[in-house]
Amino acid sequence: MKQLHRITRTDESHWVGDGFPVRTLFSYNTPDAEVSPFLMLDYAGPAEFSPASKPRGVGLHPHRGFETVTILYQGEVEHHDTAGNGGLIGPGDVQWMTAAKGLLHEEMHSAAFTRQGGTFEAIQLWVNLPAQYKMIAPHYQSITDNQITVVKLGEKGSVMRVIAGNYQGAKGPANTYTPINLWDLRLLAGQTVELDIPEDYTTLLFALKGSVKINNSATMNDVELAFFERKGKTITLSALKDTTLLVMNGEPIDEPIAGYGPFVMNTEEEIRQAIEDFNGGRFKQ
Ligand code: MN
Repeated sequence: MKQLHRITRTDESHWVGDGFPVRTLFSYNTPDAEVSPFLMLDYAGPAEFSPASKPRGVGLHPHRGFETVTILYQGEVEHHDTAGNGGLIGPGDVQWMTAAKGLLHEEMHSAAFTRQGGTFEAIQLWVNLPAQYKMIAPHYQSITDNQITVVKLGEKGSVMRVIAGNYQGAKGPANTYTPINLWDLRLLAGQTVELDIPEDYTTLLFALKGSVKINNSATMNDVELAFFERKGKTITLSALKDTTLLVMNGEPIDEPIAGYGPFVMNTEEEIRQAIEDFNGGRFKQ
């Protein structure tokens, strides 16, 4: 059994641009947080937006050295980058962007969501890249809701949506540079599931909503994050309410981290280079 290490929560919220009121549940700067290969988790919303004429969001900004994984639960995001790529991410969709060497992009509420308003809820997870991939060409995996592998858990309607890696042999659509399992778990009240997770993997559980008992002891509630020990291979979850969880687990990347805002590299020299490249306009494709 993987022992629960601790449960944390963050109620403090800040705005990313004018479109995303986010709570940062963890980052690589969090003291004592062994989160590798993951770097950061922002939970946006759930928040109500009234109809508007001008799209809200975050304008052109850079990323280098890692991947941004955007998971939409409610609302719709439209993204564009300076290489001319763009698209829509709607409920159930996932955009897995390998920023790597770097790009400039904007992330906005879609035109339709802006016009109609409504509830917005999304996650952005940052996934680190090993040194050898930090400067490869940027690319995207646009994964739509219907491409995500769905594993039924029992008869009542609980499901595991496998975004990356695999769950009991069912493979998810996202390709990753290091071994990662990313699972969107919808567990209905009263149901128990036993997760098999490789020994030595970093394991983090984020509850978007609901309440779940972990390993028949501690209870995790909504907007809480659970850290687990790397030893052990199974976690038992029993839903006390209908619960939506993001299960993140992966092999740690054992390399130094140097980070500054949207740049995450291995050395301070590489960070200086990233800032210089950004200021010199070299992030435009
Ligand atoms: Mn971004």
